Order: sequence, then C-alpha cells, then structure tokens
Amino acid sequence: MLRIPGDKCVYSMNRHNPAVAETIPGTQVVFETKDCFSNRVTSEQDLYARGAWSGINPATGPLRVTGAHPGDVLVVDILDIRVAARGAMIAVPGIGALGHHITHNQTKIVPIEEDHALFNEKLRLPVRPMIGVIGTAPADGDVPTGTPGDHGGNMDTKLIARGTTLYLPVFVDGANLAMGDLHALMADGEVIICGVEVPGEVTVRVDLVAGKSIPSPILETEDGFYCLASAKTLDEAAAMAMDHTMSFLRRRLPLSVNDLAMLMSLVCDLQISQVVDPLRTVRMAVPKRTFEPYGLRF
Ligand code: CA
Ligand code: CA
Repeated sequence: MLRIPGDKCVYSMNRHNPAVAETIPGTQVVFETKDCFSNRVTSEQDLYARGAWSGINPATGPLRVTGAHPGDVLVVDILDIRVAARGAMIAVPGIGALGHHITHNQTKIVPIEEDHALFNEKLRLPVRPMIGVIGTAPADGDVPTGTPGDHGGNMDTKLIARGTTLYLPVFVDGANLAMGDLHALMADGEVIICGVEVPGEVTVRVDLVAGKSIPSPILETEDGFYCLASAKTLDEAAAMAMDHTMSFLRRRLPLSVNDLAMLMSLVCDLQISQVVDPLRTVRMAVPKRTFEPYGLRF
C-alpha cells in the first residue's frame, strides 16, 4: 500500500505545490502525519511563543489522483485513524475564543492509553480521533494550512473521523489531497484553539466522481450528510452552509423549494465545527432517515 511519510508535507495549499506521490482512483493510501506543532513539543516546558513557533499545521502530501480534473469530486473514505500514545495542548493568553480568561502560558502533555486521553489523575476521556486539516488544492491563491475554505483545509470538524466519507471539490488536475492536524479528541467549537494534538496515521481510499461538482466539502456518516462552509463570521458561514444544503437537496430530490426549506427547518440541524480559525466553519446536517423514502444518495 502506498504510504506517504510525515516529512513530505506542506504548510499551505496551493495549486503549484508539486505532488509527492500519485495513485489511481479506488486505491488505499496511508498518510503519516506530524502533530500541528510539527512534533516539536516534547515536554510541558515547551511553551508557545508567538512568532517563534513556525511550521504549524503540517499537512502530509499532496497526493495526486490520476485522472482527477476540475469539476470532479474527490471521494475520501476514511478507513482508519491511529494516533500516537501522547498528545499535547496549549493555553495561551489572548489566543482562541477563551484567550481573555487565560492568564499564563501553559503546555499540557496528555498521555493516551487504551483509547482514553488522561487529562489528569481523575479525568480519563474516551478518545474520538479526527482529522483537523484535510483538503485539495484550492482554485487560486496560497491558503495556509491553518485556514479552511471551499477546498477543505483546517475545517476542524470532529465528525471527520473513522468510517466517514469526505467529498471534496477538485479544482486542479490531480486534485492534490493533503491532510494532517490529527486530534485524539476535540469538541465542537475547539474553543481554546486546539484539541488533543497528536501525531498519527490515516488510512484512506480515494476515488473520483465526475459530473456532480460541489461548492465546498460534504461529509457523509452512517446517519447523515453534512454540508460544510467556512467564512469570516459564523453568520456568513451559516448562510453558506444553508445555501449549500438547499442546492444539495434540490439536485437530488423531487421536492419544491418551499417544501425543502420547510424540511430544512424541521430536521436539518445547523452545527458549529469551529470558531477559532481565521475563517469559521459551520455544517448543516441532513439526516438520512428522513429522506429514506426518496433514496437520498450523494
Ligand atoms: Ca486545526
Ligand atoms: Ca489542531
């Protein structure tokens, strides 16, 4: 199986980044990933210093997928996520959505044992490994791996986990998939600006769908579809996620706009992925069970 080591990585997603590996659709690939600190935090004495910590959020790749063209959808089945035995978190005054509460800089090492993150001597938190950064090359510009967008990127969405399928827009030939920033555990919001940051490896199967172009990523879980959107404010991101959901449903269901809007108001939860990255990420959930009589599929 093709395996991409963690030192083959990028710090921004850009159509000009050369691919470090290539595979054909339908194959499995393992991405080894460094943690968001490029594996340089080794003890609780390693304190965050603005400007001194370069190389945040390395994303392993990009992987070129043979035959991918702009307008296609890259299908990423997340088959497995394995995380290392130790993660790290930081609390930094003025950083993140809770930065005004933080009075001193702290790094916490979080051991991970038997699928639990050992937060302190009393709190053993069940892990839910997820991918913070995953995306294709954007159509234009040089998007840092700390920023989300229509190409994916730093979406910090806890549902991007084992057993799910992520659909990503393809903007360049080959798609150029990259990923990193694994979290052993993170809640919606990611309010302090990190999860349990951890190195690891992700096994995916990549495939292509032609003729179903999407404006921004869609995630499929056992229970539903989630239309993701990232924007400067939560309000804008929410509006984009709703528009995205409306067009997703209109293309697939023989229902009027009015009926779809009513149904969105009844069963499609608007959920916050994160509020701490340069753009905020919101998702709208489309429950499969509701639309089962219509056989809703991607
Ligand atoms: Ca992140
Ligand atoms: Ca992170």
